[in-house]
Amino acid sequence: MSFRVSYSSGYYAPIPENHAFPMRKFEGLHSYLTQNGIVSTKNVVEPSQIDVVNLLRVHSSEYINEIQYGFSDRKRERLLGLPWSDGLRKRSFLAVQGTLNAALMALQDGISGNLAGGTHHAFPDHGEGFCVFNDVAITIKALQASMWIKKALIIDCDVHQGNGTAFIFKDDPSVFTFSIHGEKNYPFRKQPGDLDIGLADGTTDLTYHKTLERALGDILSQFQPDIVFYLGGIDVLSGDRFGRINLTLDGLRRRDEIVLSTMLKLHIPTVQLLSGGYAATLKETVEAHAQQFMVTKQLLQSKY
Ligand SMILES: [Zn+2]
Repeated sequence: MSFRVSYSSGYYAPIPENHAFPMRKFEGLHSYLTQNGIVSTKNVVEPSQIDVVNLLRVHSSEYINEIQYGFSDRKRERLLGLPWSDGLRKRSFLAVQGTLNAALMALQDGISGNLAGGTHHAFPDHGEGFCVFNDVAITIKALQASMWIKKALIIDCDVHQGNGTAFIFKDDPSVFTFSIHGEKNYPFRKQPGDLDIGLADGTTDLTYHKTLERALGDILSQFQPDIVFYLGGIDVLSGDRFGRINLTLDGLRRRDEIVLSTMLKLHIPTVQLLSGGYAATLKETVEAHAQQFMVTKQLLQSKY
Protein backbone atom coordinates (compact mmCIF):
# COMPACT_ATOMS: atom_id res chain seq x y z
CA MET A 1 0.00 0.00 0.00
CA SER A 2 1.38 3.40 -0.91
CA PHE A 3 0.12 6.93 -1.35
CA ARG A 4 0.96 9.81 -3.63
CA VAL A 5 1.94 13.38 -2.80
CA SER A 6 2.22 16.63 -4.74
CA TYR A 7 5.52 18.46 -4.74
CA SER A 8 7.47 20.87 -6.93
CA SER A 9 10.90 22.44 -6.40
CA GLY A 10 9.03 25.65 -7.31
CA TYR A 11 7.37 25.56 -3.86
CA TYR A 12 10.43 27.49 -2.74
CA ALA A 13 10.30 31.27 -3.23
CA PRO A 14 13.18 33.56 -2.39
CA ILE A 15 12.73 35.46 0.87
CA PRO A 16 15.39 36.88 3.22
CA GLU A 17 17.17 34.02 5.05
CA ASN A 18 16.33 35.56 8.45
CA HIS A 19 12.56 35.70 7.64
CA ALA A 20 10.26 34.04 10.21
CA PHE A 21 8.72 31.78 7.54
CA PRO A 22 10.78 28.58 7.04
CA MET A 23 10.60 28.61 3.22
CA ARG A 24 13.17 25.80 2.92
CA LYS A 25 10.87 23.35 4.69
CA PHE A 26 9.18 22.20 1.47
CA GLU A 27 12.36 20.92 -0.21
CA GLY A 28 13.57 19.67 3.19
CA LEU A 29 10.41 17.61 3.68
CA HIS A 30 10.55 16.24 0.14
CA SER A 31 14.16 15.09 0.70
CA TYR A 32 13.38 13.65 4.11
CA LEU A 33 10.34 11.65 2.92
CA THR A 34 12.00 10.25 -0.20
CA GLN A 35 15.40 9.52 1.43
CA ASN A 36 13.79 7.71 4.36
CA GLY A 37 11.51 5.59 2.18
CA ILE A 38 8.31 7.17 3.50
CA VAL A 39 7.28 8.26 0.00
CA SER A 40 8.91 6.72 -3.07
CA THR A 41 10.02 9.11 -5.82
CA LYS A 42 7.56 7.52 -8.26
CA ASN A 43 4.72 8.61 -5.98
CA VAL A 44 5.72 12.28 -6.08
CA VAL A 45 3.49 14.07 -8.60
CA GLU A 46 4.59 17.48 -9.82
CA PRO A 47 1.83 20.08 -10.22
CA SER A 48 1.60 22.72 -12.93
CA GLN A 49 0.47 26.28 -12.14
CA ILE A 50 -3.25 26.48 -11.41
CA ASP A 51 -5.56 28.06 -13.96
CA VAL A 52 -6.88 31.47 -12.84
CA VAL A 53 -10.44 30.29 -13.50
CA ASN A 54 -10.14 28.11 -10.39
CA LEU A 55 -8.83 30.97 -8.25
CA LEU A 56 -11.74 33.19 -9.30
CA ARG A 57 -14.24 30.88 -7.58
CA VAL A 58 -12.78 32.11 -4.26
CA HIS A 59 -10.60 35.20 -4.79
CA SER A 60 -11.31 38.63 -6.24
CA SER A 61 -9.69 39.50 -9.56
CA GLU A 62 -8.10 42.58 -7.91
CA TYR A 63 -6.33 40.40 -5.36
CA ILE A 64 -5.25 37.81 -7.96
CA ASN A 65 -3.76 40.70 -9.98
CA GLU A 66 -1.77 41.82 -6.93
CA ILE A 67 -0.27 38.35 -6.61
CA GLN A 68 0.42 38.16 -10.34
CA TYR A 69 2.04 41.55 -10.75
CA GLY A 70 3.01 42.77 -7.27
CA PHE A 71 1.46 44.98 -4.60
CA SER A 72 1.11 48.70 -5.13
CA ASP A 73 0.05 49.10 -1.48
CA ARG A 74 2.84 48.07 0.94
CA LYS A 75 0.31 47.69 3.76
CA ARG A 76 -1.30 44.79 1.93
CA GLU A 77 2.07 43.13 1.41
CA ARG A 78 2.86 43.54 5.12
CA LEU A 79 -0.50 41.99 6.00
CA LEU A 80 0.45 38.95 3.91
CA GLY A 81 3.78 38.76 5.72
CA LEU A 82 5.81 37.62 2.69
CA PRO A 83 7.70 39.86 0.23
CA TRP A 84 6.26 39.70 -3.29
CA SER A 85 8.44 38.26 -6.03
CA ASP A 86 7.83 36.38 -9.25
CA GLY A 87 8.94 33.30 -7.33
CA LEU A 88 6.22 33.91 -4.74
CA ARG A 89 3.62 34.21 -7.52
CA LYS A 90 4.80 30.96 -9.08
CA ARG A 91 4.99 29.16 -5.73
CA SER A 92 1.43 30.20 -4.91
CA PHE A 93 0.04 28.99 -8.25
CA LEU A 94 1.92 25.67 -8.00
CA ALA A 95 0.93 24.93 -4.40
CA VAL A 96 -2.80 25.41 -5.05
CA GLN A 97 -2.68 23.03 -8.02
CA GLY A 98 -0.75 20.68 -5.73
CA THR A 99 -3.71 20.57 -3.34
CA LEU A 100 -6.22 20.13 -6.17
CA ASN A 101 -4.13 17.26 -7.61
CA ALA A 102 -3.82 15.72 -4.14
CA ALA A 103 -7.60 15.82 -3.74
CA LEU A 104 -8.06 13.96 -7.04
CA MET A 105 -5.43 11.43 -5.91
CA ALA A 106 -7.26 10.99 -2.58
CA LEU A 107 -10.51 10.34 -4.44
CA GLN A 108 -8.71 7.63 -6.45
CA ASP A 109 -6.49 6.10 -3.77
CA GLY A 110 -8.15 6.94 -0.43
CA ILE A 111 -5.36 9.11 0.96
CA SER A 112 -2.81 11.56 -0.44
CA GLY A 113 -0.91 14.68 0.47
CA ASN A 114 0.56 17.93 -0.69
CA LEU A 115 4.01 18.84 0.67
CA ALA A 116 2.67 22.38 1.13
CA GLY A 117 -0.82 23.90 1.41
CA GLY A 118 -3.25 24.44 4.22
CA THR A 119 -3.02 28.20 3.71
CA HIS A 120 -6.08 28.87 5.81
CA HIS A 121 -5.56 32.58 6.59
CA ALA A 122 -6.16 33.62 2.97
CA PHE A 123 -9.42 35.58 2.45
CA PRO A 124 -11.16 36.26 -0.88
CA ASP A 125 -9.72 39.78 -1.17
CA HIS A 126 -6.44 39.58 0.73
CA GLY A 127 -3.75 37.30 2.10
CA GLU A 128 -2.46 37.31 5.65
CA GLY A 129 -0.35 35.25 8.04
CA PHE A 130 1.95 33.97 5.22
CA CYS A 131 -1.08 32.61 3.29
CA VAL A 132 -1.49 33.79 -0.32
CA PHE A 133 -4.38 31.75 -1.76
CA ASN A 134 -6.84 29.56 0.14
CA ASP A 135 -5.87 26.26 -1.48
CA VAL A 136 -8.48 24.18 0.36
CA ALA A 137 -11.38 26.49 -0.53
CA ILE A 138 -10.27 26.70 -4.18
CA THR A 139 -9.96 22.91 -4.35
CA ILE A 140 -13.37 22.25 -2.78
CA LYS A 141 -15.09 24.67 -5.15
CA ALA A 142 -13.29 23.17 -8.17
CA LEU A 143 -14.31 19.63 -7.13
CA GLN A 144 -17.90 20.71 -6.55
CA ALA A 145 -18.06 22.56 -9.88
CA SER A 146 -17.02 19.40 -11.73
CA MET A 147 -19.31 17.21 -9.58
CA TRP A 148 -16.47 15.17 -8.07
CA ILE A 149 -17.83 15.80 -4.57
CA LYS A 150 -20.80 17.33 -2.80
CA LYS A 151 -19.69 17.67 0.82
CA ALA A 152 -16.29 18.38 2.35
CA LEU A 153 -14.96 18.43 5.91
CA ILE A 154 -11.99 20.55 6.91
CA ILE A 155 -10.13 19.38 10.01
CA ASP A 156 -7.83 22.25 10.88
CA CYS A 157 -5.38 21.29 13.62
CA ASP A 158 -2.95 24.16 13.02
CA VAL A 159 -2.55 26.14 16.25
CA HIS A 160 -3.99 29.25 14.56
CA GLN A 161 -7.69 29.43 13.76
CA GLY A 162 -8.58 28.90 10.11
CA ASN A 163 -10.15 32.34 9.79
CA GLY A 164 -10.03 32.70 5.99
CA THR A 165 -11.56 29.27 5.42
CA ALA A 166 -14.30 29.83 8.03
CA PHE A 167 -15.16 33.16 6.39
CA ILE A 168 -15.34 31.70 2.87
CA PHE A 169 -17.67 28.86 3.87
CA LYS A 170 -19.73 30.63 6.55
CA ASP A 171 -22.99 30.33 4.61
CA ASP A 172 -22.22 27.06 2.84
CA PRO A 173 -23.84 23.98 4.43
CA SER A 174 -21.96 21.67 2.03
CA VAL A 175 -18.65 22.39 3.78
CA PHE A 176 -18.02 21.76 7.48
CA THR A 177 -15.18 23.85 8.92
CA PHE A 178 -13.64 22.53 12.13
CA SER A 179 -10.75 24.33 13.79
CA ILE A 180 -8.99 23.36 17.04
CA HIS A 181 -6.56 26.11 17.96
CA GLY A 182 -5.05 28.31 20.66
CA GLU A 183 -7.79 30.64 21.86
CA LYS A 184 -5.41 33.47 22.77
CA ASN A 185 -3.29 33.14 19.65
CA TYR A 186 -3.46 34.87 16.24
CA PRO A 187 -5.89 35.60 14.59
CA PHE A 188 -7.13 37.75 17.45
CA ARG A 189 -10.46 38.27 15.72
CA LYS A 190 -11.67 34.75 14.95
CA GLN A 191 -14.15 34.06 12.16
CA PRO A 192 -16.83 31.64 13.36
CA GLY A 193 -16.65 28.23 11.68
CA ASP A 194 -18.99 25.27 12.09
CA LEU A 195 -17.03 24.03 15.10
CA ASP A 196 -14.32 26.05 16.82
CA ILE A 197 -12.46 24.77 19.83
CA GLY A 198 -10.22 27.35 21.46
CA LEU A 199 -7.61 25.73 23.70
CA ALA A 200 -5.95 27.38 26.69
CA ASP A 201 -2.27 28.32 26.53
CA GLY A 202 -0.07 25.42 27.58
CA THR A 203 -2.59 22.64 26.75
CA THR A 204 -0.81 19.25 26.87
CA ASP A 205 -1.14 15.90 25.06
CA LEU A 206 -3.89 14.13 26.96
CA THR A 207 -6.35 17.04 27.06
CA TYR A 208 -5.69 17.76 23.38
CA HIS A 209 -6.27 14.16 22.28
CA LYS A 210 -9.47 13.73 24.30
CA THR A 211 -10.88 17.01 23.01
CA LEU A 212 -10.02 16.12 19.41
CA GLU A 213 -11.47 12.61 19.62
CA ARG A 214 -14.72 13.90 21.08
CA ALA A 215 -15.01 16.59 18.42
CA LEU A 216 -14.42 14.16 15.54
CA GLY A 217 -17.08 11.83 16.94
CA ASP A 218 -19.58 14.69 17.20
CA ILE A 219 -18.88 15.97 13.68
CA LEU A 220 -19.04 12.58 11.97
CA SER A 221 -22.34 11.72 13.71
CA GLN A 222 -23.99 14.69 12.00
CA PHE A 223 -22.01 15.27 8.78
CA GLN A 224 -20.94 12.67 6.21
CA PRO A 225 -18.24 14.18 3.98
CA ASP A 226 -17.17 12.94 0.56
CA ILE A 227 -13.65 14.17 1.26
CA VAL A 228 -11.61 15.42 4.22
CA PHE A 229 -8.84 18.02 4.24
CA TYR A 230 -6.50 17.58 7.19
CA LEU A 231 -4.40 20.61 8.09
CA GLY A 232 -1.66 19.03 10.15
CA GLY A 233 0.06 22.20 11.37
CA ILE A 234 2.94 21.39 13.71
CA ASP A 235 2.86 24.74 15.52
CA VAL A 236 1.05 23.02 18.43
CA LEU A 237 4.45 21.63 19.46
CA SER A 238 5.99 22.75 22.71
CA GLY A 239 8.66 25.34 21.93
CA ASP A 240 7.13 26.52 18.63
CA ARG A 241 7.93 30.21 18.10
CA PHE A 242 4.27 31.10 17.41
CA GLY A 243 2.53 28.25 19.23
CA ARG A 244 1.74 28.54 22.97
CA ILE A 245 0.40 24.95 23.09
CA ASN A 246 2.59 22.24 24.63
CA LEU A 247 2.27 19.04 22.62
CA THR A 248 5.23 16.65 22.72
CA LEU A 249 6.55 15.20 19.48
CA ASP A 250 4.92 11.90 20.40
CA GLY A 251 1.69 13.74 21.25
CA LEU A 252 1.77 15.30 17.79
CA ARG A 253 2.21 11.86 16.21
CA ARG A 254 -0.78 10.60 18.22
CA ARG A 255 -2.85 13.58 17.01
CA ASP A 256 -2.09 12.67 13.38
CA GLU A 257 -2.94 9.04 14.12
CA ILE A 258 -6.31 9.95 15.68
CA VAL A 259 -7.39 11.91 12.61
CA LEU A 260 -5.91 9.70 9.91
CA SER A 261 -6.92 6.32 11.36
CA THR A 262 -10.48 7.58 11.85
CA MET A 263 -10.75 8.59 8.19
CA LEU A 264 -9.05 5.47 6.83
CA LYS A 265 -11.35 3.21 8.88
CA LEU A 266 -14.40 5.06 7.55
CA HIS A 267 -12.99 5.02 3.98
CA ILE A 268 -13.33 8.78 3.61
CA PRO A 269 -10.83 10.14 1.04
CA THR A 270 -8.35 12.33 2.94
CA VAL A 271 -5.91 15.00 1.79
CA GLN A 272 -2.99 15.80 4.11
CA LEU A 273 -1.65 19.34 4.12
CA LEU A 274 1.15 21.04 6.05
CA SER A 275 -0.04 24.49 7.17
CA GLY A 276 2.20 26.10 9.82
CA GLY A 277 5.24 25.10 11.82
CA TYR A 278 7.96 27.22 13.38
CA ALA A 279 10.19 24.92 15.44
CA ALA A 280 13.60 26.14 16.62
CA THR A 281 15.46 24.69 13.63
CA LEU A 282 14.59 23.77 10.06
CA LYS A 283 15.52 20.15 10.81
CA GLU A 284 13.01 19.96 13.68
CA THR A 285 10.34 21.63 11.54
CA VAL A 286 10.87 19.12 8.72
CA GLU A 287 10.92 16.08 11.00
CA ALA A 288 7.72 17.17 12.73
CA HIS A 289 5.93 17.73 9.39
CA ALA A 290 7.19 14.32 8.23
CA GLN A 291 5.40 12.55 11.08
CA GLN A 292 1.92 12.70 9.55
CA PHE A 293 3.22 11.05 6.38
CA MET A 294 5.04 8.42 8.44
CA VAL A 295 1.80 7.76 10.33
CA THR A 296 -0.03 7.33 7.02
CA LYS A 297 2.55 4.84 5.79
CA GLN A 298 2.32 2.83 9.03
CA LEU A 299 -1.49 2.87 9.06
CA LEU A 300 -1.62 1.63 5.45
CA GLN A 301 0.89 -1.14 6.25
CA SER A 302 -1.04 -2.29 9.32
CA LYS A 303 -4.39 -1.98 7.50
CA TYR A 304 -5.26 0.86 9.93
ZN1 LIG B 1 -0.32 28.21 12.29
